[in-house]
Amino acid sequence: MAQDADDDLLFIEEDHSTDDESAPDYCWRILIVDDDRDVHEATEFALSGVEILGRRLQLIHAYSGREAIAVLERENDIAVVLLDVVMESDDAGLKTVEAIRQELMLFNIRIILRTGQPGQAPEADTIARYDINDYKTKSELTHARLYATLTSAIRSYNQLQRLDESRKGLEKIVAASNQFIAEKGLHAFAEGVITQLAGLIGVAPEGLVCAASGEDADHPDQFRVIAAAGRYSHLIQHRLEEIDNLHIARSLNQALRNHYSTVGRRDITLYFRKNNEEGFAAYIESAEPIREIDQHLLEVFCTNIALCAKNIDLVTELRRDALMDRQVALPNRNALVIELDRRIQAGGTGEVVALVDIDQFAATNDMLGHHYGDALLSATAQRLRVLYDSSVYVARVAGDAFALAGPGRLLDSASIHRLFAPPFLIDDIDHAVSVCLGIAPLDGCADGQDVLKNAYVALRRAKALGIGQSLTFSPDIGQAARERTTLLRDLRQAFERRELSIVYQPQIDLSTGKIIGAEALLRWKHPSGEFIPPDRFIPIAEQSGLIVAMGRWLLPEALRTLKRFQQAGFEHLRMAVNVSSIQLRQPSFLDFVNETLAETGTSPNFLELEITESIALEGLEAMIALLTSLRSQGIRIAIDDFGTGYSSLNYLERLPIDHLKIDRSFVLSLAASERGARIVRTIAMLGAELNVKTVAEGVENQGIGDQLRDFGCDAAQGYHYAYPMEEAEFLRWLKEHA
Ligand code: C2E
Ligand code: CA
Ligand code: CA
Repeated sequence: MAQDADDDLLFIEEDHSTDDESAPDYCWRILIVDDDRDVHEATEFALSGVEILGRRLQLIHAYSGREAIAVLERENDIAVVLLDVVMESDDAGLKTVEAIRQELMLFNIRIILRTGQPGQAPEADTIARYDINDYKTKSELTHARLYATLTSAIRSYNQLQRLDESRKGLEKIVAASNQFIAEKGLHAFAEGVITQLAGLIGVAPEGLVCAASGEDADHPDQFRVIAAAGRYSHLIQHRLEEIDNLHIARSLNQALRNHYSTVGRRDITLYFRKNNEEGFAAYIESAEPIREIDQHLLEVFCTNIALCAKNIDLVTELRRDALMDRQVALPNRNALVIELDRRIQAGGTGEVVALVDIDQFAATNDMLGHHYGDALLSATAQRLRVLYDSSVYVARVAGDAFALAGPGRLLDSASIHRLFAPPFLIDDIDHAVSVCLGIAPLDGCADGQDVLKNAYVALRRAKALGIGQSLTFSPDIGQAARERTTLLRDLRQAFERRELSIVYQPQIDLSTGKIIGAEALLRWKHPSGEFIPPDRFIPIAEQSGLIVAMGRWLLPEALRTLKRFQQAGFEHLRMAVNVSSIQLRQPSFLDFVNETLAETGTSPNFLELEITESIALEGLEAMIALLTSLRSQGIRIAIDDFGTGYSSLNYLERLPIDHLKIDRSFVLSLAASERGARIVRTIAMLGAELNVKTVAEGVENQGIGDQLRDFGCDAAQGYHYAYPMEEAEFLRWLKEHA
């Protein structure tokens, strides 16, 4: 920047001081550029005391084209340049014009060229190209001529500026309306209102907009400044009462309470009606008296603005919907992720997210009806909401899963479980509810999705452990989860490539020693050559639902094998097939079994389905109905792994079953401990009591077989008799041992 220019510059001190400190802002600023000091003086003299369009003039001086550019770079709001053509060079004036329009990009500023001789006048096309407003010879410096020229230049400058302001205002309003997801929608919009309104009445955009806060339910008509511009910027977000200017506060208050607009001499307060109760008000002030305000124009403006505001409300509501669970009036998963993002960005130290999953919700919902389910969810939401202070964020993330985000010291598993200790009172009946918890720390997580994923991993593991369990995520668990994902991918591939096979393990009648049947067991030989035990891949197949497709392949396969065993002379052999609860829950399960029996020409008497005790938890009545119809055709039902699961004698008695399979863990401990022996004996007695046959699995030696027979156990299966074998081997074994 040209420092030397400063020395030459002379600011005309306004001799008419006003009471308004910001008065210079409300002058028209005129830049005089001439290398002849006499011209400056003459102009100053001609314009002394002049007012144009209600404002005084402020003259700024420059003595060369270069200086003029420096001034224009620094000062804004210069309305008119009175520019000499010939200065440091013959075309210094025209070069300056070019720079103003093309380099400084000042398009609104009006340019009046002045020359000593008429011959120095620029060409007509130059005048048009650079938007030069006027061209005068210096002899026309009389008061009257200059006044007329400046008035028309200032008027057109003013119009251009207003257009600009109003365009900016419109742009802001349009941008705000488009800002569907931005929370600041209404704020940006209100800012647009100020700019547009200021443009409309031709003043600098200074003012503020107020609206009911809506945040405080107890004080719905608590008004707040939602946008403020210019010297009122500092009032943003303040309450109406906090506005330090009594006149403004009163004007806005009246407009907001009485729903009307007022046009004062130097200010204007407009009310924008959103609906019958609600609206907002804008206050704009003007240094000069506001004149020629077209009432009709303002009305149109207010209506349009109110319409826009309504749209914004709609958008805000849509946004709230996208983040709110209406059923239980809690933030939803999307909102939780945003909140977790926020907390992680703020450091997240010591904070956790805890997922709370209601145990057996689906089953109880089926059993007791949807009304009960809905009431339980609402009651849970309510309990979580009231028990924590604002440091804990409560959300509903899925059907029966809630999330708590907050300080780890508040959200440990013991205290969350304690919350659920008191039963829920629904329809005057106490309902005890237990939950599973998956907890994950925010520390070290990249974002909300990340920590939520960890919490889900922990929750899934907790649920696999049973009801009322909880687990906190650790890197090991994450590692295990990744391994399971890989394993599932491999399992899917193996299944598609028919790399799974079936082995058969014989079952022996303990009193006669005869072979009564076989259990079909899945085998997976991984491409790496290693056998993956079913205990590892079956749970993954169940979690992913792949077990259904696997079962649809296995049952016909096993029954065709059985057919071959029978055709080889072992007509009375039965085939036991494991069926997981996921398969049983398929509505088509019954049809599938019947079709497979028909297709393979198998009598239902020769099929036994092994199910686990836990299936009864999925809804006892539905399960009883299904098992009853399977049994009515002659299909046998065995309860597998008996004693390890969630046992209730009450429903064991009601379940229509044929066999109890004593879990191998009890059988294995039979010889080792007195307690093991007691359990096995008790189960055998229970079988007799319930009139079902008991089958012991995991019999590894003759002694255990004998002991089981003495306890009254009916049948046995185990390495002592035979390992699970492939079909051909099994046939050989049959022929040897028959
Ligand atoms: P399960 O139904 O309890 O099957 C019996 C398991 O005990 C089999 O393990 C079998 O190899 C093993 N076993 C047999 N005799 C002895 C013994 O004397 N000592 C010992 N220590 N173990 C013995 P496997 O084949 O590894 O199967 C494990 C589990 O995988 C099965 O337990 C069953 O729950 C599941 N599974 C296997 N095949 C299928 C299937 O086709 N469908 C479903 N849903 N689950 C299956
Ligand atoms: Ca089994
Ligand atoms: Ca078992």
